[in-house]
Amino acid sequence: MNLDSILLPGIAHNEPLVIAGPCSAETEEQLMLTAHQLSHKGMKLFRAGIWKPRTKPGGFEGVGEEGLFWLEKVKKETGMYVATEVATQNHVIEAIKHKIDVLWIGARTTTNPFAVQEIADTLSQLKFSGPVLIKNPVNPDLELWIGAIERIYNSGMRKIGAIHRGFSIYGRKEYRNIPQWNIPIELKRQIPNLPLILDPSHIGGKKELIYSLSQQAFDLNYDGLIIESHYDPDSAWSDKE
Ligand code: PEP
Ligand code: MN
Repeated sequence: MNLDSILLPGIAHNEPLVIAGPCSAETEEQLMLTAHQLSHKGMKLFRAGIWKPRTKPGGFEGVGEEGLFWLEKVKKETGMYVATEVATQNHVIEAIKHKIDVLWIGARTTTNPFAVQEIADTLSQLKFSGPVLIKNPVNPDLELWIGAIERIYNSGMRKIGAIHRGFSIYGRKEYRNIPQWNIPIELKRQIPNLPLILDPSHIGGKKELIYSLSQQAFDLNYDGLIIESHYDPDSAWSDKE
């Protein structure tokens, strides 16, 4: 694949890319407090989920478009770039309308070729230039992950990265999603110039595992991290652990 760098102007080339921010945008106050704290720590790229794919109905499903106005405010007040998850054509339209800099495709969406194709077509119609980050599918299927990357690539996108967020298993477990490092390693072998970002938050599912997972990623030459962060994690509306 003929890929371009996913690094945005002002983001250093000689250090890992770090994306940080809450699982979900909850309120304007929560988002601004978290963003300012991260910006003071030197973060350049802020994440927040606006539409949340929840396993069961009744959980917090995200604030929707209102949160995109808050992300615009984060950009204006902190100068950070902003990133959010898109899963449908409408999400892509709304996110681009609100000048979101980086879009990512969530693990559940990557499993669905119809959804990925719809996103790819919309990105191309709206001439979004990226970056677009593609999470691994929830099931350990490398071909499905590569297929999603190819669909986005075929839409004309060249600033593409992959996010390793682990794989679902049933039953009691140490990790929320098992890493299966061999899968991203094989992805990198097949597409050597594809930037690889670790999501230790969704692999570990708890704070205590963030450091060691992140270190392991750098030992394996990953290009960056996406880490869930909140000004008051214990009060987070999703993924507070
Ligand atoms: C997220 O990053 O907010 C998210 C929903 O993660 P995943 O798609 O990896 O479950
Ligand atoms: Mn989360």
